[in-house]
Amino acid sequence: MSRGILTPQRWALALLSAALLAACGQEPAPTAAPEAASSAKLSADAIRAKVANVDEAAIVAADPSNWLTHGRTYDEQRHSPLAQINADNVGELGLAWYWDTGTTRGLEATPIVVDGVMFTTGTWSTVFAHDARTGELLWKYDPEVPREWGVYACCDVVNRGVAAWKGRIYVGTLDGRLVALDAGTGQPDWSVQTTPKDRPYTITGAPRVVDGKVIIGNGGSEYGVRGFITAYDADTGDQAWRFYTVPGNPDDPIEGEHLKAAMSSWRGGEWWKVGGGGTVWDSMAYDPDLNLLYIGVGNGAPWNRHIRSPGGGDNLYLSSIVAINPDDGSLVWHYQTTPGDSWDYTATQHMILTELEVKGERRKVIMQAPKNGFFYVLDRETGEFLSAEAYVPITWASHVDPETGRPVENPGAAYAEKPALTMPAPYGGHNWHPMTYSPSTNLVYIPALDLPFMYGQDNAFRYNPATWNTGVEFALTIPPDSITEEVALRAMVKGHLAAWDPVAQREVWRVQHSGSWNGGLLSTSGDLLFQGRADGMFAAYQASTGALLWETPVHTGIIAAPVTWAVDGEQYVTVVAGWGGAFGVASGIPAQDGNVIRGGRILTYKLGATGTLPTPPMPEALPTPPPMTASADTVDQGELLYHQNCSVCHGGGAVSSGVLPDLRYMSEQTHQIFQGIVLGGAYKEKGMVSFSHVLDSDGAEAIHAYLIKRGHDAMEERRLLAEQSQSDSAPAGG
Ligand code: CA
Repeated sequence: MSRGILTPQRWALALLSAALLAACGQEPAPTAAPEAASSAKLSADAIRAKVANVDEAAIVAADPSNWLTHGRTYDEQRHSPLAQINADNVGELGLAWYWDTGTTRGLEATPIVVDGVMFTTGTWSTVFAHDARTGELLWKYDPEVPREWGVYACCDVVNRGVAAWKGRIYVGTLDGRLVALDAGTGQPDWSVQTTPKDRPYTITGAPRVVDGKVIIGNGGSEYGVRGFITAYDADTGDQAWRFYTVPGNPDDPIEGEHLKAAMSSWRGGEWWKVGGGGTVWDSMAYDPDLNLLYIGVGNGAPWNRHIRSPGGGDNLYLSSIVAINPDDGSLVWHYQTTPGDSWDYTATQHMILTELEVKGERRKVIMQAPKNGFFYVLDRETGEFLSAEAYVPITWASHVDPETGRPVENPGAAYAEKPALTMPAPYGGHNWHPMTYSPSTNLVYIPALDLPFMYGQDNAFRYNPATWNTGVEFALTIPPDSITEEVALRAMVKGHLAAWDPVAQREVWRVQHSGSWNGGLLSTSGDLLFQGRADGMFAAYQASTGALLWETPVHTGIIAAPVTWAVDGEQYVTVVAGWGGAFGVASGIPAQDGNVIRGGRILTYKLGATGTLPTPPMPEALPTPPPMTASADTVDQGELLYHQNCSVCHGGGAVSSGVLPDLRYMSEQTHQIFQGIVLGGAYKEKGMVSFSHVLDSDGAEAIHAYLIKRGHDAMEERRLLAEQSQSDSAPAGG
């Protein structure tokens, strides 16, 4: 716990790690969103009739005017053949409409577009239907997720979108329900609880519909759950099958042949008490010809294998790509990217299907850039390993053995004896932000993260169902005292956009971004690549070269992936903008870059449009903290308690991104009722639950003292920054 050994590098890690955790519920009440100009409003019957046509044949036919499933097509390429907007004319792209969600938390959804009607999701699993051409709101569905459930959302109260199928819209809710909505009205037809309510499960991923079954996974490994994925009859909501990704208690009956094979790879320990992990919280792909459903499986619970499975073993099917027969939910093949994972290296990242020429042979492949930093190409019929190379710097392994397909771990990487500075960080070299594959350039585009992390074993680990259960000592990342260092090091957190040749397994070009946690991707046959960035810009790059061709401010960091579609022969591009997510809630990066965070927004562009966004209001004057009266020891104690309990949502060093309140700038009233909020649960309705189960009055007061000190630090930081900007005579470059 000593802060004396902190180095600049350590502090960089602190920043990065700050956002790892997140038991965060707070969000101000929505404000009214402006109504867009409208023509005749679409009737419920008209909307329902459009969605009635969405079935397997329509998804496979993949009319470029529509975006019918999460990845546009079952192969999840996120590439559109549309080329009306192209590298020659993209400079004429303008704002057709925008619609403010009235929320301030992260927005990660990929919109579904069906014949000019757009279905998307916002915070707390809310669903919106819009007239895609005008932005007029057609209906809204709020599943009324209890706000106190937000404390179980590791990575913000986000949702990545809906599925459309035969007249219905399907959404997974943060508290574990799968709800089927009448596409015409947004009224629920049926709803099922897909997760046990006595465990901290959440759903943030988009459902997929395969052969009449709605497939939905869940998350929660950080808190301690057992991963599974379930198929429900799309008409009735009846459960068709459930696939558990990890074995349960060995004394209980086993739920599938594949778990018998997995059991011997878990050795010692009592993993089932923490759950074992292996949640399927995001990515899927489907090959109708092979009749295979591919799922990406997450990290172990707890993260640290020395605690989870002290006798060693690969711990199947953690961190694996798994192929399932969607008829009955049986395992067909698996490939484990990180055997015995101890680093939160999920394989839940986006998976793309295509055909590639590998060693002179045409192969049906599946491709993934999971968190662990290697880009994988596998044969998707058999699961055979074809190739893997590092797409970001990797310190935990030297390479993947081409004979065995197993990574070769570096000594000490598993941090059992001493802490290990490791790349990638638990955020991964790539997280959930969708990639894209362009059949025009034969390149995969990766929204990559440049982040390290200090892993260390938590020797005092004890399972506590109310908190994170990683077995990793997060207090290693307490930030330093020097404000000058803090200002300098915050600039080290980066991300980039990589164009990757999956056959040669090498980077062809990259665009280095100033911040990390940039948006997902869309490629088009117009030689274009669209990406929103953490710095609040929406941009188009030339897919073949990476040249920046167009960009426009949206006044909030973008993390979601754009889509493109057409109505009446006119091509549009839509992106959902709203800073947040795991990194966003706690990193503080865009705020530091002067980004303006003003809430969530759906934006749609077309050639020649001339719409404009309102000028963002000036930031409010920051309140002055009360005088520092506590002793240095109390402040130190408060710093430790803060990083154990609060930093996951409110930021390392109490530097918030603006998604959740920045506690350095608490109002006078908040200071007055601090104990009532932290211990009394005064803001429970906003998602800030009572922490009286882990803190007493002295502890809360120590945290308060630390936050007052950080308020004074922030004043000093602003003074230093003001001095710097005065002494800079030249304009800022890049
Ligand atoms: Ca995780």
